Amino acid sequence: MQWVQEDNRWQWRGISGVKAWFSTRVGGRGKPPYDSLNLSFNVGDDPETVLENRRHAIPQGLSRLIMAQQVHQSEVAWVGALDRGRGAYEPGSRLPGLDGLLTRDAEVVLGMEFADCVPIFLADRQGRWVGILHAGWKGTVLGVQRRAVADIVDAGYDLNDIRVGIGPAIGPCCYEVDQRVEEPIKRVLGHNRTLRPGRDGGHWRLDLWTTNRLILESIGIPPEHIAVLEICTSCRPEFFSYRRDSKVTGRMGGFICRI
Ligand SMILES: [Zn+2]
Repeated sequence: MQWVQEDNRWQWRGISGVKAWFSTRVGGRGKPPYDSLNLSFNVGDDPETVLENRRHAIPQGLSRLIMAQQVHQSEVAWVGALDRGRGAYEPGSRLPGLDGLLTRDAEVVLGMEFADCVPIFLADRQGRWVGILHAGWKGTVLGVQRRAVADIVDAGYDLNDIRVGIGPAIGPCCYEVDQRVEEPIKRVLGHNRTLRPGRDGGHWRLDLWTTNRLILESIGIPPEHIAVLEICTSCRPEFFSYRRDSKVTGRMGGFICRI
C-alpha cells in the first residue's frame, strides 16, 4: 500500500481490486484562475470546460460517477448503482449533506472535490468495498473518519481489514489556524502534538494529516494500515490551493472505485 505519482495524478496503490487516485491541476482546459484541470462546477469555471476536464480525469466514464455536496460536516452514506450519475454532469443532483461516501458496488466511481482539505481514501483489504471522505478541520473535529469506520464495522466488516490512504492536503508548513480551530483540535485529540507555534501567541500551525491519522489509530486502525502521502497542496504549484490562491481557484478530485 503506497502512493505513486503517475501521469499528473497521485495513485494510492497496493490493494487488489481497488483503484484510487487524486488529480493535480495539470492537463486540463481551464483558463486562469481555474487553470487548468478544475473538476468543480461550484467555483465559477465554465461548466463545459469542467465536463471536459472530468471526462479526462475519470476514464471509467461520468455515468459511473457519484459526487456529494461536501458541507464540512460528518455525514457518511453507503451509496450504490442506483445513485450513479448523481452530481456527475451538473452540481444540482449531488448527494446532499454528505462528506463521506462508501460503496460495495463495482460499477460505481466515488468522487469528491478538494483544494487543501484532506482526502481520506478507504478500502477493504479484499476489495469488497471502497470509500472516500472530505475532511477539513471541521470534518476532522466532527469525526467524519470515525463515522465512516463505524458505518463500515456496522455493515459487518472487520476493523482489521480497513486500509486508509491520506492524500495531498495543506500541510503544517502552510496551514496556520487561530484559537477557534486550535481548541477543538486539542479537545478531540486530548493533546496538542499536531499543533506548532505560529506567527504569534494566537496562531498555530496545524498538521491535519497527522490529526486524522491519530484519530483513526485511536479507534483501532493500526498505523501500518494507514498510508499518509504528506504532500502539501499549498507548497506545490501543481495543486490548486484555496488558501494560497486567495479562495478563487479550482478543485482537484479524489476518486476511488472497485475494479
Ligand atoms: Zn506547505
